[in-house]
Amino acid sequence: MEQPSKLPEPFTPTFSMKHASLHIDDRPREECGVVGVSGLDSASESAFLSLYALQHRGQEAAGIFTFDEDGPHILKGAGLVGDVFDKWSLRKLLGRTAVGHVRYSTSGGNDLDNIQPIIARYSRGNIALAHNGNLTNHFDLRKRLVDEGAIFRTTSDSETLIHLIAKSRHDSIDAQVDDALTHLEGAYSIVLAIDNVIYAARDPRGFRPLVLGQKGEGHIVASETCALDILGADFVRDVEPGEVIKIIDGTVEKLRSLPSADQPAPCVFELVYFARPDSRISGISVDRARRAFGRRLASEHPVEADAVIAVPDSANSAALGFAECSGIPFELGMLRNHYIGRTFINPSQKDRDFGARMKYNPVREVVEGKRVVVVDDSLVRGTTSRSLVRMLRKSGAAKVHFRIGSPPVRWPCFYGIDMPTKGELIGSALSVKEIEEGLGVDSLGYLSLDGMLEAVAETGPYCTACFSGDYPAPLVDVDKGFVSEQGPTNC
Ligand code: AMP
Repeated sequence: MEQPSKLPEPFTPTFSMKHASLHIDDRPREECGVVGVSGLDSASESAFLSLYALQHRGQEAAGIFTFDEDGPHILKGAGLVGDVFDKWSLRKLLGRTAVGHVRYSTSGGNDLDNIQPIIARYSRGNIALAHNGNLTNHFDLRKRLVDEGAIFRTTSDSETLIHLIAKSRHDSIDAQVDDALTHLEGAYSIVLAIDNVIYAARDPRGFRPLVLGQKGEGHIVASETCALDILGADFVRDVEPGEVIKIIDGTVEKLRSLPSADQPAPCVFELVYFARPDSRISGISVDRARRAFGRRLASEHPVEADAVIAVPDSANSAALGFAECSGIPFELGMLRNHYIGRTFINPSQKDRDFGARMKYNPVREVVEGKRVVVVDDSLVRGTTSRSLVRMLRKSGAAKVHFRIGSPPVRWPCFYGIDMPTKGELIGSALSVKEIEEGLGVDSLGYLSLDGMLEAVAETGPYCTACFSGDYPAPLVDVDKGFVSEQGPTNC
């Protein structure tokens, strides 16, 4: 484990590369989680714990920046939060201000330079940037900046913001940040430190979540409330779509609201799959939303069966909702191995179900001879589900009925969810009947788009682009030919 260091001149981040081995999981992967801590002693420890709670949002790399009177400190590395940091390294990340990030690359590939927080020094101080989301005008902005002489250190869309701040002609740092943000289009929940001042901003549609919490004299901003719970911090409120706040030594100041979009459009897929069910984001409990999806699914696609089982863990809440509404008992019919991050795979083991078998295993005693309803949160490529069906049949299931707690995913995401391209999405390529046949199930039912939206109507409207093809924020890079309309390909 490498130790963090005081930033040398010129700045060189410290990297740890413990886990550079193979990924066995060929599903699409999660995106990012962000945290900012201000006004708490040992802010790095709080940031670490919060990142630990946000690990589901990105397992590829993690980083923490802190600032104290001696200046900035940084440690980032490839791997899980618990692998990148230990108590010794955290102790060297001194200060009462911290910014942290976990990632899987939604933009910019996954080389080490792209690990966040992205760090730079400009005329007014040290910048550390943690970004969740995806800018839809990144290539357009980048081209203009490069044409004007900017030199980019990373291939990440997030670095664009740093250049925009550095070249802003405004006098105050607040105005520079504000000015830079107005150029961005698309999805961003940002936590940015300039020395010991934290700025947190959410794009005007609020695609990605961002919450504010308080602990004693300190404040925390984070992607989800589970990152506050782990600190014993109180949830204060969501950072509103378009809101920019500033936190200095624990004191929060609302800076402004960015020009508002027609209406907010938080991502409904956060509720379907991404966020943790114990989190509350954009004014709604993720567990309650998923249960409502499950209940609605049961009423839209009833079926006679002996047991409802979930594809753990992301479909647990929806399956409970299905069981509650249908009266069919919920059973623990499938287990998930939680320890399969990255593993060496012998190529000879790579039969078609191997990836799924590494992760899931049916409980034979629950499924044998039973008509089971399997509830999953979503179908993306359909590869895992096909394997799960085969595994369930091998374990003796008499009937396998598949129910999906969201509509068919048909469209790529340009707002920061790490989805495959359009051609790889099973819901885009095939009809429901064809998918049913392809999966080898006795029946298949998807939650309808209207049903999904009605289930969370109180907290909508939502971005439903991946289900509906309605993209609320302009796709500037697609329109200008920088990005394929099939979707970002580096995800
Ligand atoms: P598959 O249909 O085999 O591609 O896998 C679909 C499953 O992957 C869903 O049931 C989700 O639990 C999970 N999933 C959905 N979207 C994503 C995503 N963007 N990244 C990682 N996993 C996802």
